[in-house]
Amino acid sequence: MARRCLVAANWKMNMTLSQALPFAEQLATLASHPAVEVAVAPAFVALFPVGQVLCPRGVALAAQNCHAASSGAYTGEVSAPMLADLGCRYVIVGHSERRQLLGEADDFVARKVKAVLAAGMAPILCVGETLEEREGGKTLERVLGQLQASLAGLRREEGAQLVIAYEPVWAIGTGKTATTQEAQEVHAHIREWLKPLWGEVAQQVRILYGGSVKADNAAQLMAQPDIDGALVGGASLQFEEFSAIVEAAKQAKK
Ligand code: PEP
Repeated sequence: MARRCLVAANWKMNMTLSQALPFAEQLATLASHPAVEVAVAPAFVALFPVGQVLCPRGVALAAQNCHAASSGAYTGEVSAPMLADLGCRYVIVGHSERRQLLGEADDFVARKVKAVLAAGMAPILCVGETLEEREGGKTLERVLGQLQASLAGLRREEGAQLVIAYEPVWAIGTGKTATTQEAQEVHAHIREWLKPLWGEVAQQVRILYGGSVKADNAAQLMAQPDIDGALVGGASLQFEEFSAIVEAAKQAKK
């Protein structure tokens, strides 16, 4: 079975609600294609109204984060069941900005993965190496280590829901992109690594590339056999750029 490509917009801490709503109207025109799914991850405060614009028109709603607990005394946090109730299909977990700026460790990320699955959504689990690690030849050690720590104990059926985003930290928001060959190589290693864990399910897991994906590099990246879409930060805030990335995915995956 062919994997359906996923192009996910990560708005990060951008867009007030008044900016987000007209933008969502534009994005809703990108909806549904048999080979390419589009998802948008606004800030929490915009999730519900943006979802009301996007979901009925076939664009999936995603959250940028959640807490690992399902409810309780965690002031300021948002739980996975709350996000599922709003209509989210995906939750980004373990983004490098949260790992680096907020000190999120692998074991906490692992608990979030489980919480998202338990709430009936799909985690978009971000992994990736720093520049120092890449230059030190430690890319795979880092990426597979993060996967090992975050996926421990997941059942095969849960694995089938998972989306992995390979995002080299040095490529996020920097304008630097991994070459298509560098990205494909890591993606193929990830899939090989999943095989002994989940057998055939490894073929169903979508592995996205993230890190300065733009209109002009999307086609090449998307043409790689193990690149099943993109997680897009900066370029997802401009309609022309983002729609060109979606179009590149449609062309590459048709
Ligand atoms: C991201 O935040 O996941 C990301 C890939 O950002 P950018 O596209 O801006 O590098």
